[in-house]
Amino acid sequence: MDIPLNRPDITDKEITAVVDVLESRNLKGDGKYDERCAKLVESEFGTPRALMTPSCTHALEMAALLLDIDDGDEVLMPSYTFPSTATAFMLRGAEPVFCDVRPETLNIDPKDVAEKITPKTAAIVPVHYAGVASEMDQIINIAADHDIPVVEDAAQGVNATYQGEALGTIGDLGCYSFHGTKSYIAGEGGTLLINDETLIERAEQIRQKGTNYPAFKRGETEYYEWVDVGSSYIPSEMQAAVASVQLSRRNEIRNARRETYRALEDGLEDLAADGCLELPTIPDSRQTNYHIFYILVDRQKRDELVEHLNADGIGAASHYRPLHTSKMGRTFGYEPGDLPITESVAKRVVRLPVHPGVDEADRWKIIRSVRGFIEAQ
Ligand SMILES: *Cc1c(COP(=O)(O)O)cnc(C)c1O
Repeated sequence: MDIPLNRPDITDKEITAVVDVLESRNLKGDGKYDERCAKLVESEFGTPRALMTPSCTHALEMAALLLDIDDGDEVLMPSYTFPSTATAFMLRGAEPVFCDVRPETLNIDPKDVAEKITPKTAAIVPVHYAGVASEMDQIINIAADHDIPVVEDAAQGVNATYQGEALGTIGDLGCYSFHGTKSYIAGEGGTLLINDETLIERAEQIRQKGTNYPAFKRGETEYYEWVDVGSSYIPSEMQAAVASVQLSRRNEIRNARRETYRALEDGLEDLAADGCLELPTIPDSRQTNYHIFYILVDRQKRDELVEHLNADGIGAASHYRPLHTSKMGRTFGYEPGDLPITESVAKRVVRLPVHPGVDEADRWKIIRSVRGFIEAQ
């Protein structure tokens, strides 16, 4: 592809940081770059404790462990998401309960959340699709009414806000991703944001293989020992080095994405006004990080449009296959038609490249290619 869908924005700064780690001979986790990332997330985004993880999937798994998710629990989440949102909780024995999405943001519909709460509901997991916040006020209110914890899957929501608050800092726990396809990358990587302070000590232990090594390291105990279940939820210092530079460059990267996002919006606006396609909406009181730019088109023409764009060298793509109609999701008894908006948008979405490597000429190429296809219909 001349214009790939994703392309990490790597500068000499990331390269220098990785070389620094290699030269230090200290590649294991919890080094200075890990601490730099955690401190930055805590102070710049506003959470009492951030722990770097090897991925967002692992951060979600830690969240499920911390909330003592157990056999027979139900966890509410959108079907329009990546499988990790569900599997992290299923590993603890929970059943995912899929909710439909709002058509204007493709985020979980609070009305469906309220309807699907049962005495077994053990967590609500909103996903901030494309870097645009879910309806957090309503979700937090529903959760508070039933005393249910909220875990934000903010894999795509790093450096975006809802009513001025950073995504990932609003629920009891929040999860970030630095996967190579996200806006801020470490190859693989993530963060668990622990907004409920009562969970901090246990989170540190779970991350350190179920030991109280973190307290030992701070000089709070004479020795360290096995205190809980846990795993190795610690990224290598190489990952942390890349993530720390990316986080420090977060506004530069966001602003570059914004330029392309706005150019694509402007270039396709009249087609949207004519009803040929739909553009994404960013409701009031939300600041996006411009992670994904998507259009919604006629479902009969969607795959043809993707092929047309690909033939022009543009890495357009669709996603997600809704979880409730996937091979795994159907084992819970879901059937096509159960979540109509999710099923409709999943057949109509086309994502276009908005990474910082997209330049002025690329933008025009993308706009011309989409217009060429639509106008030929
Ligand atoms: C990317 C993504 C994940 C998984 O992130 P990893 O860091 O690759 O584990 C989870 N949920 C959503 C919504 C994602 O977009």
